[in-house]
Amino acid sequence: LNPTLYILGSNSATPTRERHPTSQILKIDNQKIMLDCGEGTQNQLLKFGIRHTGITHICISHLHGDHYFGLIGLLSTMSLSGRKDVLHLIGPPPLKEIIDLQISYGGIHLNFEIAFYPTNPEERCLVTQTKSFEIISFPLKHRIHCTGFLINELPKGRHIIKSEVEKYNIPFIYYNSLKAGSDFTSSDGTMIPNKLLTEDPSPTIQYAFCSDTIFDTEIVKYIQNVDVLYHEATFMKNQEDRANLYFHSTAEQAAIIAKMAKVGQLIIGHFSSRYENLNLLLDESKTVFENTYLAEEGNSFEITKA
Ligand SMILES: [Zn+2]
Ligand SMILES: [Zn+2]
Repeated sequence: LNPTLYILGSNSATPTRERHPTSQILKIDNQKIMLDCGEGTQNQLLKFGIRHTGITHICISHLHGDHYFGLIGLLSTMSLSGRKDVLHLIGPPPLKEIIDLQISYGGIHLNFEIAFYPTNPEERCLVTQTKSFEIISFPLKHRIHCTGFLINELPKGRHIIKSEVEKYNIPFIYYNSLKAGSDFTSSDGTMIPNKLLTEDPSPTIQYAFCSDTIFDTEIVKYIQNVDVLYHEATFMKNQEDRANLYFHSTAEQAAIIAKMAKVGQLIIGHFSSRYENLNLLLDESKTVFENTYLAEEGNSFEITKA
């Protein structure tokens, strides 16, 4: 199964009747990484049938409310649902203090541990890694401390060919060594080479998330050649002055970044509430970078090697 990105919300600043603020889930293997958690995120999970169990990591890009006001509600629900597994929370340093304060004044007791990883807005940093992926943060230029996130899938074990291992009656306990590339020797001494039993794993993917940022070519070096890039596109070109003033980007600027970084696919989001017809933003982006899609809530994108 390829990693899949689920869009839960992609509006900027305030929710509208149809659109929620930023949140996404990237599912790799059985782990879910949440990227930003705007207000209403837990309702969006319910609406789209995505369980919060299995969310192992939550990455918060910055402390503007449209990117994290849903967090305390989600944490509270996780605890009330009996979560025991540690949650890895990544974000600007004050986020820890904010959550601790909300928990302590609410007399809330969380049933699980939060492992907190402060982000650094000055340079690219490896934040944490698991068996399946690593999470890297990198600086974005916004009005306050803000980072983007790069998620690199890590090399996978070789893919076992089921019909072949069954043909040779190879017990399950040998599967891990087969995945690691070992040959199999049966009890009568017959050696079966690994290449008959396994095939190459699917290639690993890279996903980059640029939540809120002014047009900044400095970020190109952090996101070079990623398979899928999410980049904010709050405004259209005719509002470029406004975009600059508020440290946001236009759809055309998002596309220029995608083109410069030679990414496989661009997804734009963080739309200003002023736009009812998002296809205007999509068309503007496509004139510069054809392979652009809208981060409309409820959409999902299978991420494959570009
Ligand atoms: Zn925002
Ligand atoms: Zn912001």
